[in-house]
Amino acid sequence: MRAKTMLRPVGSRVPRPARGQAEPLPWENQYHTWCMGSGTEALSAAIMLAIRRSELNGAVPHVILPAYGCPDLVAAVVAQGASPVLVDLMPDRPVMDLEKLVQAISGHTIAVIAAGFLGVPERLAELGDICRSRGLWLVEDSAQCFPPDCSHKPIADCAVLSFGRGKPINLMGCGALLVREDHQRFAGDVLEKLPETAVTVDWKWMIRRQVFNLLLGRIGYGLLLRLPFIGLGSTVYKPLESIRRVDLPLGLLGAGIRNAQSRPSVASQYSEALSFLVAKGWTLFMADQRAGADRPSVTLRYGLLAPDRMTRNRAVSLLNGYGIGANAFYEKTLPGIDVIADVLPTNPAVYPNAASFAERLLTLPSHEDVSDRDITVVVTVLDKVTREPEK
Ligand SMILES: *Cc1c(COP(=O)(O)O)cnc(C)c1O
Repeated sequence: MRAKTMLRPVGSRVPRPARGQAEPLPWENQYHTWCMGSGTEALSAAIMLAIRRSELNGAVPHVILPAYGCPDLVAAVVAQGASPVLVDLMPDRPVMDLEKLVQAISGHTIAVIAAGFLGVPERLAELGDICRSRGLWLVEDSAQCFPPDCSHKPIADCAVLSFGRGKPINLMGCGALLVREDHQRFAGDVLEKLPETAVTVDWKWMIRRQVFNLLLGRIGYGLLLRLPFIGLGSTVYKPLESIRRVDLPLGLLGAGIRNAQSRPSVASQYSEALSFLVAKGWTLFMADQRAGADRPSVTLRYGLLAPDRMTRNRAVSLLNGYGIGANAFYEKTLPGIDVIADVLPTNPAVYPNAASFAERLLTLPSHEDVSDRDITVVVTVLDKVTREPEK
């Protein structure tokens, strides 16, 4: 069954730039903001700073990151001549196993990337303790979370935001590197040498915004899906070729922030409506987010784990049939993504928890266009999936 219209899996509308005085950024007192060409470029610049800061004297630097996550993490690290060192996840949770992380640290390690996932932040306080005592840089990758943890507490040395499509703040591209005040002087010397281009909000930009927002609608997105060459949603590894700073109008960033902060959240509605799945072997890992309950992040998508891969796949195709853009997100662990296997160091270690997470993850749309009716459809379909024997 193929639905004509489709509730997009992820992504919010591009805001209209705000006029007048720009409001202070939520992290402004502790971090300096450098706008960059993309989130990947910002992350790579953070790794560049960590390398300059280290005293490795020419040895290949190692950077620790989770074994399941965005392939751009690998691209950002490799672009700086560093080696990614992967760490398995905790069972059924999108955060790194801290014991395994400590074991993965070597004399070559210079930094740890703490990547939030779909709005679930990493544990910055614990990671901060591990990094501080060993002189490692802690980079908060908040491309999928807003606001970043660093706007509450200045634990990370740097933080990264993405303003691409499918991220909490959609400005049709660009990103930001936030540098903690105590590094700003040294970082400024390094970052000022990067080339800079300007983003101009002119009539062409406004038209692009209109088209973009139109394609986020159910009919527009349904049309997009029927153009196979666009390859929507497929996970691919793209090497990073260059890094640039951008001059982003502050009114645009301000509008994006306000837009993200005022977006209604359906996460708790999902958690409640889907709680019946727990007795059937599903895991609602976004339901018991104790940490940050008083300062929730935007939920980029609502993620949950099916009991097994087959049930997950059945749920995805049934939901898609009903016009709900559910999907499996990255589908594979980082070493499982073709091209990445070539750039990873020789150790073909296995990451059982990351593999199980990748096999069972189902993501549901949680953006501003999800209606009560959509949630009812999701509940009905998932109830059906758990009842029906495999045909
Ligand atoms: C999307 C993403 C990035 C890269 O951001 P772009 O702006 O798309 O380059 C980095 N890290 C994570 C966790 C992401 O989800």
